[in-house]
Amino acid sequence: MCGVFGIFGHEEASHLTYLGLHALQHRGQESGGIVASNGTTLASFRAMGLVADVFNEPVLDGLPGKAAIGHVRYSTAGGSHVRNAQPYQVSFMGGQMAVAHNGNFVNADHMRRELEAQGAIFQSDSDTENVIHLIARSKAAAFEGKVVEALGRLDGAYSMLFLTEKKLVAVRDTIGFRPLVLGRLKNAYVIASETTALNLIEAELLREIEPGEMVVIDEDGLRSSFPFARKPPGRCIFEMVYFARPDSQVFGQSVYQTRKQFGRQLAKEHPVAADVVIAVPDSGVAAAVGFAEASGIPFDVGLIRSHYVGRTFIEPQQSIRHFGVKLKLAPVESTLRDKRVVVIDDSIVRGTTSRKIVKMLKGAGAKEVHLRISSPPTAWPCFYGIDTPSRQELIAASHTVDEIAKYVTADSLAYLSLGGLHAAAKDPEGTTYCSACFSGKYLTPLANG
Ligand code: SF4
Repeated sequence: MCGVFGIFGHEEASHLTYLGLHALQHRGQESGGIVASNGTTLASFRAMGLVADVFNEPVLDGLPGKAAIGHVRYSTAGGSHVRNAQPYQVSFMGGQMAVAHNGNFVNADHMRRELEAQGAIFQSDSDTENVIHLIARSKAAAFEGKVVEALGRLDGAYSMLFLTEKKLVAVRDTIGFRPLVLGRLKNAYVIASETTALNLIEAELLREIEPGEMVVIDEDGLRSSFPFARKPPGRCIFEMVYFARPDSQVFGQSVYQTRKQFGRQLAKEHPVAADVVIAVPDSGVAAAVGFAEASGIPFDVGLIRSHYVGRTFIEPQQSIRHFGVKLKLAPVESTLRDKRVVVIDDSIVRGTTSRKIVKMLKGAGAKEVHLRISSPPTAWPCFYGIDTPSRQELIAASHTVDEIAKYVTADSLAYLSLGGLHAAAKDPEGTTYCSACFSGKYLTPLANG
């Protein structure tokens, strides 16, 4: 769970990167960082916190130059500490480089042990640092050759940006788990995890960076190549279900329209007699609109989300009261009282939040609560850059749908089928998306351990 942004060829590179990261804040709220190049040297700033808190005018003024890369992080590998904040910046025999990574290397622990045995000293506990050591050791002549050699030894998911004094390099793994798009702002090239970052700075979307593609941008322009062996694609379907912002286009598709289609399909697969359709905001909204459209049951607002509860919010001691989900969600009684309610959520992880939501809706007077989930049961952890708990903690790994319905105290519970999910994402054969967290069919060997 991370977001990356890069720009080459603009006087205000670091300021635009700041804006781009702000648009990608939903992809990581733990830390933010920017590295800029003035053509001869790199300057960087990284800190814990939200983009708006990490950066200010003097900090951005201290990051001069026409090229920059930035990163927002939510830890998937490595702890929550500033030493793991990206982009990493180092000096090595070939000069200076910085790296920003969205994804996760599945053979990172194995590779780290090998590198440490050869004398490497790691500064962080993140999987990304392996790339730096491998690049520094590479005998390839050009920087991009070193990147290819390094990534050739790592497996897993990566949408990555590299910055040197003179060039910006973007690479996406051959399976294409995480999104990455290329845009243009006047004479500058822009690269971002999602199109919402391009929209904010009024850059034009040129295209997706393809799975397995490497793009090198320098004073001579842009060059594209496909240096890695091709593999069948496996875009992360969970980006469409939950992770990406609904106003983005991801993998060439509108996230909002895809989520709506999940909702329509869900209504077709699991109809229910009810008076109102509501969403668990924000990620359930588009699917709820689709469900309402297909079922003919009116959509209304039944839950309000507070956007001001950060990860560091301090709850009162248990001795006062545990407020839990109430800090984030509040029921709208006038929508719910005496109604048969269909509530749409994107997924159930441990089941504890769903249980609290059902209780909250019933407490606000709902006569019946029918929970509909716009993805299949999440029964397997993700190893490709999304922060899911271990299999033991996933309720669907050890409970049937009926058992989960009982646990969350819903009058009924149903999930979108795996076939329905792929069909709604315009992947009827199930061949272009990864859905391993639902099926357990991972697309790479899992080499760690
Ligand atoms: S396992 Fe799930 S979350 Fe991870 S990449 Fe595949 S679809 Fe996405």
